[in-house]
Amino acid sequence: MEKRLTTMWCSLAIWIFLVAHRVIGKLRMLISSTTPAGLLLKLVCCFSASIFLDGVTYAESSDPEARLRQHTQEFRREVIEVDDDVYVAVGYGASNSAMVVGESGLIIIDTKESTASAEAVLKEFRKISNTPVSAIIYTHSHRDHISGAKVFAGNDNPAIYGRAGFTNELVGGVGVGPILGKRTQRQFGFSLKPGSELINVGIGEKVWADGLGTGYVPATVNYTEERYTVTIEGVRIELVAAPGETDDQIYVWLPEKKVLFCGDNFYRAFPNLYPIRGSRYRDVIKWAHSLEKMRREKPEHLVPSHTRPLSGASLVDRALGDYAEAIRYVHDKTVEGMNRGLTPDQLVASVTLPENLAASPYLQEFYGMVPWGVRSVFSGYLGWFDGNPTNLLPLSEPEEARRIVALGGGPRKVYNRLKKAMVAEDYQWVMQLADYLITLRYQVDEVTDVKVKALRALAKQQINAPARNYYLSVAKELRPDPPKILID
Ligand SMILES: [Zn+2]
Repeated sequence: MEKRLTTMWCSLAIWIFLVAHRVIGKLRMLISSTTPAGLLLKLVCCFSASIFLDGVTYAESSDPEARLRQHTQEFRREVIEVDDDVYVAVGYGASNSAMVVGESGLIIIDTKESTASAEAVLKEFRKISNTPVSAIIYTHSHRDHISGAKVFAGNDNPAIYGRAGFTNELVGGVGVGPILGKRTQRQFGFSLKPGSELINVGIGEKVWADGLGTGYVPATVNYTEERYTVTIEGVRIELVAAPGETDDQIYVWLPEKKVLFCGDNFYRAFPNLYPIRGSRYRDVIKWAHSLEKMRREKPEHLVPSHTRPLSGASLVDRALGDYAEAIRYVHDKTVEGMNRGLTPDQLVASVTLPENLAASPYLQEFYGMVPWGVRSVFSGYLGWFDGNPTNLLPLSEPEEARRIVALGGGPRKVYNRLKKAMVAEDYQWVMQLADYLITLRYQVDEVTDVKVKALRALAKQQINAPARNYYLSVAKELRPDPPKILID
């Protein structure tokens, strides 16, 4: 009897092994195929891998859209317990909000982009503690960090901490608000359909627009010290000046817990040395200095105001180190090239990250981009003039278009070239040719249709969320519905 049972178990084990072997073989074949099922399986595997590895890795997929979709895992909705009494809410809109539970009250660090997103976070925080909010700390004055303060404050009358000079970054106040607003909406894809068009915004899932920018409460404690130390609800807190993404940036350091809240000076994406919505020059050298200052604190936990927190002293040190090194590299190589007389276009062609930094999981270009950083350093130091006298007083756009199109054999021939470039998937060239023809008012409707198609194709090639969103937003402005008849 016993022998029969053993034989039965052995047969069953062999059968399971053979079936598993076959199934794995089939899955392998499927995953290496380019069928829709294969691509779906690949995507699922990428997602699972990133969950297991807590987002430390990044997708190896060569499909930019799939990589950007995988990056959305950074923003899966969750309140994460970073350490005892330290929490951060990730995935409730564009930015994070953190909570430190003190003796008899709460300390909130950053307050989200809108009252709606702040309400969603507060609801979750209230499941952890019902004590009043004793203090709110702003890491900087960008709207996605200050706009839900009213919600967190409620009737608790908390002290609100903001560094002196706190509102310096609000450039909309100098009269460029309308255009800055328009470009911001494009960068963050306000008009795009979530899922199919809007994948994410690079450093967050999407902007929660309900009550956007309406819940700001001015700081009640304006400190000027480089390092301002205060004890709130029994928790020792240091607020340390750390100019970087903004001049008014600070980091919040809890020395007893070794937790560092770094605001927007670090997130899991290449730093936005220049935002395409437009901004004043971001002093990248100060930014690198600030990251090095953070490293010297030897934090065990790093809690950014966008993307997920990092834990483990060596991991945090590596992340901050990679960030500082990449910023310095882009800056130094740009300056070196500038001194050799290179123009911004030439610099963009020559400054690329070395392999070790390009492969860093913290430096993938989901948000900032190396070429934009290069151009920003150039214009930050030397302004708009690239140094080439040809560009001191160039031809007007219509004049240049007229002469280039004439050189190309006239508008009809250039239009044919445009169609060929589209077939050849030479989308940047399509855009440039389309601009010449549109400037000359030649077949504007047809040419605009082609340009919209090229914008959509360029968007698909991007892992960079702001670039993708900008391409798609402008495509939508030109043609609210995708063109029905496309040139093939
Ligand atoms: Zn932010």
